[in-house]
Amino acid sequence: MEFVEHRQIMILGGGPAGFTAALYAARADLKPLLVTGMTLYGQASQTYCIENYPGFPQGVGGSDFGQLLDEQAKRFGAEIMYDTVQCVNLQQRPFEVCLSSGNYTADSLIISMGADARKLGVPGEREFTGRGVSFCATCDGAFYKEKEIHMVGGGDSAIEEALFLTRFARSITVIHRRDQLRAGAILEKRARENPKIHFIWDTVVKEVIGEETVKGLLIENINTGQQEIIPTDGVFISIGHTPNTGVLEGQIKLTKYGTIEIDDHMETSVKGVFAAGEIADPFFRQVVTSAGMGAAAAISATKYLATL
Ligand code: NAP
Repeated sequence: MEFVEHRQIMILGGGPAGFTAALYAARADLKPLLVTGMTLYGQASQTYCIENYPGFPQGVGGSDFGQLLDEQAKRFGAEIMYDTVQCVNLQQRPFEVCLSSGNYTADSLIISMGADARKLGVPGEREFTGRGVSFCATCDGAFYKEKEIHMVGGGDSAIEEALFLTRFARSITVIHRRDQLRAGAILEKRARENPKIHFIWDTVVKEVIGEETVKGLLIENINTGQQEIIPTDGVFISIGHTPNTGVLEGQIKLTKYGTIEIDDHMETSVKGVFAAGEIADPFFRQVVTSAGMGAAAAISATKYLATL
């Protein structure tokens, strides 16, 4: 692949973390190049309305928000490239990044390629995403006021989100594939004591059924094989996230959660390589926290580049 150019800093991934990093790096006069990746503006762009980002009291559409981030970063000189990262070489200096349009080198990198919510992979799941299937309770919970909904998963996230959803929904039934939760004891106790939360154990979802929106779930008991269709107003799926670290395999330290390990300054195990947003965050996973991590990573990268 043809060599294109050298940059002081490249930002890999164009969600809220990446665009915020680009804004800060541009304002530090580093002329950053941000590579957006396939999901332009990240997972946030798929949210109908972001209601919890400070400064937008009426909420803001996910893709509108992305466009505002884009405009703001460009205003200060960030260059945005709508391309995907094919490979990264962190073993050499400067670092090498290959895109489908050519090869680049950079003195510093900010990796903000996000994470994708794990999918069930059953019929109807993709078709009804945004129309009764959701992967984010914080984003979409308020659309389910007084509804009867379901949550798939048995980990901390599923139970924490089920508890959050009790603010809105009339009832939440957690469908878990085993007879014991993976979630910690405190969350489990809270959920079991909450009269709005119910459980269906040893059960998997085989299909999401609907017309315009979701109407029901085809479920199967894994012990008996018995199947039934249960009605629902919506289903939240919280079965973990997969950080998009594929191109970094073997080159950077990961945490036990599969996210990139970072220190207090957002620096990874490779000096000069910083990470921000959900690729480095197993806990918060909010647009605002990702943006904050992006700002911090860019500030750290700016300091690092000044030492070279
Ligand atoms: P997780 O701990 O990996 O749990 C995923 C859950 O989804 C598990 O119950 C798993 O079932 C289930 N699952 C996975 N694939 C499935 C499939 N194909 N079909 C049906 N169910 C499936 O993920 P998480 O809850 O997102 O948490 C990620 C990490 O962040 C964890 O280490 C967690 O402790 C941490 N976290 C902590 C907090 C907190 O401390 N407050 C809050 C959120 C997250 P099995 O149990 O059978 O494997």
